[in-house]
Amino acid sequence: MLIELRGVSKVFTNPRTGKGLVALNDVTLEVGEGEFLCLIGPSGCGKSTALNLLAGFEASTGGDVLFQGKRVTAPSPKRGVVFQESSLFPWMTVLQNVTFSLQGEDGREGKEAKAMEYLRMVGLADFARSRPSELSGGMKQRVAIARALAMDPDVLLMDEPFGSLDEQTRRKLDNEVLSLWKREGKTIIFVTHSIDEALILGTRVVLMCASPGRISREWKVDMPWPRDPSSPRMVRLKEEMIRGLQTCSCAATAPRPSFISIGNEVNGTEVGK
Ligand code: ADP
Repeated sequence: MLIELRGVSKVFTNPRTGKGLVALNDVTLEVGEGEFLCLIGPSGCGKSTALNLLAGFEASTGGDVLFQGKRVTAPSPKRGVVFQESSLFPWMTVLQNVTFSLQGEDGREGKEAKAMEYLRMVGLADFARSRPSELSGGMKQRVAIARALAMDPDVLLMDEPFGSLDEQTRRKLDNEVLSLWKREGKTIIFVTHSIDEALILGTRVVLMCASPGRISREWKVDMPWPRDPSSPRMVRLKEEMIRGLQTCSCAATAPRPSFISIGNEVNGTEVGK
């Protein structure tokens, strides 16, 4: 297994009051190589926290976070991260932003050639000498993706990467990420609170609920791309997810983790049965 969360908990302690907030409680998740996993759920259910633990930005307070069978203790270029805001250095050019994070013995020219290869891949080769302030929001996110890919990660962790963009740009970038995923064969974990986006993209969709943050349900989506959101199977799946989200708001009655395969028309079996 490429990535595993095993019984993971994360409690944030308020240094002033000493009170703890359980952001994640007993979260278990396995992600295999080549998956495109979408994490959905209401605000505050711990999606970003889970991603930060996987990235190595935060440490869990219980359980194990494993990458390629080893405990995650620090960030690694093997796990590229793309945030909602592009987090580019404003004083650097686009090219410098991408080369900055490249390690290895390629020298400056080698690094620039590599960075250009990924800028071409995201359609921004002509903007290599521009500053981030000269780019639109969507273009900045493309640079962030090129920067993450240039490090040749095994997994891309994307935290609502297109959440602040208009609908049209978001759809376009969703399709670009899908093409990159297919071509590059990377594993992607993609946080979104849009069911539609998760349904268009994911091979699997995992629903998290809040108070405490936990995994509630998951769906395998084994339908080919491009997916038609109005197809009966997609509509059925979307309804399932909306119902799941509605149940989410009531922690006491949240359903047990379950698995539903819609893609092959087989009604789901519950995990653990
Ligand atoms: P989501 O990404 O699903 O919106 P988050 O992972 O950002 O949720 O947050 C989960 C919970 O943990 C929220 O209640 C949030 O306020 C809390 N939280 C997240 N990060 C921190 C932090 N660094 N310190 C304290 N509380 C935090």
